[in-house]
Amino acid sequence: MKHIPRKRFGQHFLADAGVIDSIVRAIDPHAGEPMVEIGPGLTALTQPLVERLGRLTVIEIDQDLIPRLRAHPQLDVVASDVLKVDFTALSQRLCGVLPEGGSTAPRMRVVGNLPYNISSPILFHLLDHVAVIRDQHFMLQKEVIDRMVAAPATADYGRLSVMLQWRYAMENVLFVPPECFDPPPKVDSAVVRMVPLAAPPAIDFRTYGELVQTAFSQRRKILRNTLGRWLEQRGFGGQFDLQRRAEEVPVAEYVALAQALQA
Ligand code: SAM
Repeated sequence: MKHIPRKRFGQHFLADAGVIDSIVRAIDPHAGEPMVEIGPGLTALTQPLVERLGRLTVIEIDQDLIPRLRAHPQLDVVASDVLKVDFTALSQRLCGVLPEGGSTAPRMRVVGNLPYNISSPILFHLLDHVAVIRDQHFMLQKEVIDRMVAAPATADYGRLSVMLQWRYAMENVLFVPPECFDPPPKVDSAVVRMVPLAAPPAIDFRTYGELVQTAFSQRRKILRNTLGRWLEQRGFGGQFDLQRRAEEVPVAEYVALAQALQA
């Protein structure tokens, strides 16, 4: 029976063989690698991936799609909302041991043509489990990827850039126009590669998150008017140039400021 795409699950199925091939080449899967695909849908990407991997774990929320996924002999199906999946526990199942404590255990790879309506919550959910992830390849709205990879002092540089760049090296690896999907989305898409930094700075993530949110709460204002009070409340007595706007401050300076607040 033909599946009717569901808007509430962000269902835009890949329908262009050339683009599917380019995404698979960008991911570069190898036999035996532990990999998880978010939102396999009608398996446009799933099938070429699993042919190379041998086995693949897929996470799908749409109950109507679950029986045909379960019928696939090479797929391990997690029928769930991805936002409820404990990726650290999943990694333990797939890779055997946790990579903490200097272990050289293989780490999980995560891929997917994500539902655009919840792409930011998915990115932040994975950030909580980043220690068990080797890399992430995601199809997203191009505009979101532009913000993720943006450099300081550009129009796209904002909270998303600063919240992700302290932890990942990221690049836009492929542009994908709407006509490559069925049904076509209203926006351009792209594929981002996200590789967790091997030696990330030690920060208290809550402090960092609050700092970045406060700084960007009114991005046109100078930081004295937004961050100034917040820093005062925390008894910050260090040096930080508050005459700038949030979008002019590089990620490394936000990291250093969060660390100074923790000290
Ligand atoms: N991978 C398929 C493709 O490229 O053709 C489908 C991609 S479609 C953009 C997004 C997929 O994510 C759909 O299969 C949808 O049902 C699934 N999805 C949506 N919300 C989800 C959630 N919260 N958890 C898991 N899967 C979800």
